[in-house]
Amino acid sequence: MSLASSSDSVSQLDPASPIETLSGIGPKRAAVLAQRGIFTVLDAVLLLPVRYQDWRCIQKAATVCPGMDAVVEGTLGRVFVHPMAGSPRRKLGRAALVDSSGASLRLVWFNIPARMAAAIPVNRRVLAAGRVSVDRDGAKQIVHPRLLLCSEDRALPAISPVYRLPKQIGQKAWFAVINRALSRMTATLCGAIPDQIRPPAIPPLVQSLRAIHRPAPDCDVDELRNGRSDSHRALAVNELFTFQLAISLECARAKRRAGIAANATPSLTTRLKASLPFALTAAQQTAIDEITRDMASPRQMNRILIGDVGSGKTLVAFFAALRAIESGYQAVVMAPTSLLAEQHLRTFNSFCAALTVRTAILTAHVPASARREIQAGLAAGTIQLVFGTHALIRGGVRVPRLALALIDEQHRFGVFDRALLKNLAPAADMLLMTATPIPRSLALSLFAHLGVSRLDQGPPGRTPVETIVRPAGELGGAAAAIRDEVAQGNRAFVIAPRISEEDDNEMAPDSIEGLMLKLPGLLGGLRVGSLHGRVESSERDAILRRFRDGLLDVLVATTLVEVGIDVPDATVIAVFGADRFGLAQLHQLRGRVGRGSKPSRCFLVPSVGADPKALERLGILAHTADGNEVAAADLALRGPGDLFGTRQSGALPLRFSSLMRDVKLIEESRSLADRWLAYDPKLVSAQSRPIRSAIDAMLQLGFSMADVG
Ligand code: ADP
Ligand code: MG
Repeated sequence: MSLASSSDSVSQLDPASPIETLSGIGPKRAAVLAQRGIFTVLDAVLLLPVRYQDWRCIQKAATVCPGMDAVVEGTLGRVFVHPMAGSPRRKLGRAALVDSSGASLRLVWFNIPARMAAAIPVNRRVLAAGRVSVDRDGAKQIVHPRLLLCSEDRALPAISPVYRLPKQIGQKAWFAVINRALSRMTATLCGAIPDQIRPPAIPPLVQSLRAIHRPAPDCDVDELRNGRSDSHRALAVNELFTFQLAISLECARAKRRAGIAANATPSLTTRLKASLPFALTAAQQTAIDEITRDMASPRQMNRILIGDVGSGKTLVAFFAALRAIESGYQAVVMAPTSLLAEQHLRTFNSFCAALTVRTAILTAHVPASARREIQAGLAAGTIQLVFGTHALIRGGVRVPRLALALIDEQHRFGVFDRALLKNLAPAADMLLMTATPIPRSLALSLFAHLGVSRLDQGPPGRTPVETIVRPAGELGGAAAAIRDEVAQGNRAFVIAPRISEEDDNEMAPDSIEGLMLKLPGLLGGLRVGSLHGRVESSERDAILRRFRDGLLDVLVATTLVEVGIDVPDATVIAVFGADRFGLAQLHQLRGRVGRGSKPSRCFLVPSVGADPKALERLGILAHTADGNEVAAADLALRGPGDLFGTRQSGALPLRFSSLMRDVKLIEESRSLADRWLAYDPKLVSAQSRPIRSAIDAMLQLGFSMADVG
């Protein structure tokens, strides 16, 4: 150990100090780090390695195979620099690495600057690591290898971390910075579980961070790579501990928060109920009662309505909105897409036309002049109910008599969106809706601060969607079913995971473009339209309308249609490249059919070469129609993973934990939080001070309530 680091360890470093306190970080590097949200020493050590280089298993040059991640030890020969074919100004560097048996492996650098070529340690013994591939002449090579000099006097690091860094900062320099920070870090970190309640199985936070940034030579590198090491788990529990305390505080605050009492005698709601062409389900009635009770109270409502696709959430939302309106207030309904916002307005009009509620719609498509008019109507209170998208929370919208803010498909929104919506009227009641199947026990610990209403039972008279898994890449089976259904006056969705093929294999039916080439021939004259992110948004609604009204028989689309689209005559959906979707997402997609009384079918067609495990997962969907069961089966089969894809992760202030993966840790953190609250209910003790600041940091992220699901 050098003198510098031993003297470093004497002076203790406050984790809250600015990153520039660390030697190696000047104003320029600090500025690029700030763009990444790294301001303090703590921020820096919380940037975890994205990968690890394991130098322990050294292979022979002769035995490495293409595709392998290999480490080869040998002596590096001269670097030959040539102009690159096709772009003579760029240089290609090549060198041979010769191992102790005399076999050699080629090392290649594309576009290598002279300065870098000169710095390559020629004639020295090195370890070279990277993915082995085959050069044009058939020689095995590693492109852009990571090199480690084998010096006699220094023990090699067994495993080195690899970070995702701004290009101005190199891996080695960053490692040195982190190393210095970790050696000097004080033991108490913001948000750490206090020692007196920390279970022995959870190592202290600083120790965990050290193990993650400087792995021990004998550690299990796969656990580190998957983020499943004890140290990663410790980070997650600590974070969840803060999260649970934040929820508890928020819960206490919400209980005190003054709200609006929407408690006039029912008029519109009674008329809606009487005019419905069907009876409300028992679950809908219970949810409506719970919401009505909350809305009547002078405290603020924070409630989440959880219901599987097709369970009838929209109608419950309309009752809530009418309750606000009949009490003399305004309501807003925010949806993630303009398609959905427009559909809500249309549905509202079909159920509530006789009620003469003054409605409006505010999406990005509304021209500026109309927008001004709507804004004036909202400000004056003449518009009682507005449907919209993000456009609702972009500047300028004022809704002075707002009593109810509703968010449909709430998991599609981020925390900031919700915070902004809340800003429209801080006292307004809030109702969130989600189709994400959140297990009961999880909901209990996560939504302690929220009322939860569930629509467990859908409208009667539905036949479950028959789900059929077809052979990989097969078009014929689904096409025949589509022809069949259309012949009976029904319509079909066809879904693909992307718009065009990534590789040149345009014959694979996994893209909209591929399908549009091949499907129409198989569908013999059916009217086929396509809908995806590259279609102009004004055009999108027109296409969807034509499909809804039966002017198109088949809609080939991306997951744009995943949320909420309601076309009761659609009786078949075929999902191509089905293995590329999460189960929960497929369940959502499947929910686009089977919405009327007609029996419906869902075809799942995996892509050619799909992982057999993915195929097994598709089988789950064929066996159950219940969203909760889909979620549970998926968990059991592949272990807790990111069930809902990555989309949701942005919605929560959680970096190290996943609500679905870490169910056990959530329970553990809940009981730790309860123990701490029993000891210090108001978090005023000296030991609670760092916890407070961690909570504040979390709340500052815009997290206020219900940022879950
Ligand atoms: P989701 O919960 O997925 O948003 P929707 O609210 O869109 O579901 O409802 C799905 C379909 O069920 C709609 O066509 C709606 O009109 C219909 N629906 C809602 N409630 C009932 C009910 N009580 N009886 C029969 N059909 C209903
Ligand atoms: Mg819906």
